[in-house]
Amino acid sequence: MYDLAIIGAGPAGLTASIYAARAGLKTVVIEAMAPGGQVAMTERIENYPGFPEGINGYDLGYSFYKQAQRYGTDFIFENVISMDLAGRIKKIYTNQQTIIESKAVIIAAGSKPRYLGIPGEEKFKGRGVSYCAICDGPFYKNKLVAVVGGGNSALEEGLYLTKFASKVIIIHRRADFRASNVIEKEARNNPKISFLLDTVVEEVLGDDKVKSLIIKNVKTSEIKEINVDGIFIFIGSEPNTKFISNIVETDSQGYIITDELLQTNIKGVYAAGDIRNTPLRQVATAVRDGALAATQAEKYIKDLNNI
Ligand code: NAP
Repeated sequence: MYDLAIIGAGPAGLTASIYAARAGLKTVVIEAMAPGGQVAMTERIENYPGFPEGINGYDLGYSFYKQAQRYGTDFIFENVISMDLAGRIKKIYTNQQTIIESKAVIIAAGSKPRYLGIPGEEKFKGRGVSYCAICDGPFYKNKLVAVVGGGNSALEEGLYLTKFASKVIIIHRRADFRASNVIEKEARNNPKISFLLDTVVEEVLGDDKVKSLIIKNVKTSEIKEINVDGIFIFIGSEPNTKFISNIVETDSQGYIITDELLQTNIKGVYAAGDIRNTPLRQVATAVRDGALAATQAEKYIKDLNNI
């Protein structure tokens, strides 16, 4: 029986575990993949304070994990499939038939890459279709790659891919970028990067791996086929909330709704980080959420113990 169970070992969950364990709560973190969450798949984080030169995302995630381990948090690397949160004792069920019992729960399971949902995307996943430049970039030495998206991720990861690829074509559905001016300027000044704007990808084609894309100009409706060796898709993310459906209240996009103290609609259940309905999803905001959720959970558990 734990005081606190935290679902997700990204920046929010790991920060929550550091605060909880240091407050003397018997704490467990349940994670489906490796520690670090989405940040571990990011080449460089330049806006997390304390690292004037920036830091590699994997290194940052791993240092959060090492710090969490230092204070005696337990880790269970299994997939949460359902939860029973209504009573005083919360129950979490995993794909390995483990049942974790706790007095309070923090849901910090983060988000996952959004898919384009076009023909060929699923078929060529891992064979030319990628959602992680840091994982797959080195396979594209001197190759031609496309990057889809117009946000900070697309442009930053596109810049990272120029380390390997001979040419990076950024395909964005509008002419204006969502990415910050600084990053847009850097991408525009990179001689290996070119742009196809007002353009969407309609299909991924290939044989055993990706060979070309069918693209459409949304202004002229012109359809073309372009040859590429790979396509990296960075069009935002979606919450990892499969296991919470109909248990915790979410918004129309599936992000968990909390009050300002990060409590969900269920007493003793908190949400933190990217999984939450929040205006900004950054490492800094995830860390802030983790700290706040843990201190709120601590208060809740103290009150519970006094009843
Ligand atoms: P994002 O900012 O939501 O951008 C997603 C991009 O994908 C947008 O340009 C969007 O186009 C496009 N898009 C969405 N759905 C699409 C579809 N179905 N087909 C084609 N294009 C589609 O997502 P993100 O870049 O992953 O960034 C997420 C958050 O992390 C943001 O707050 C971002 O600032 C932050 N971030 C920060 C840094 C940094 O500061 N170093 C690095 C990475 C990410 P529209 O513009 O037309 O909607």
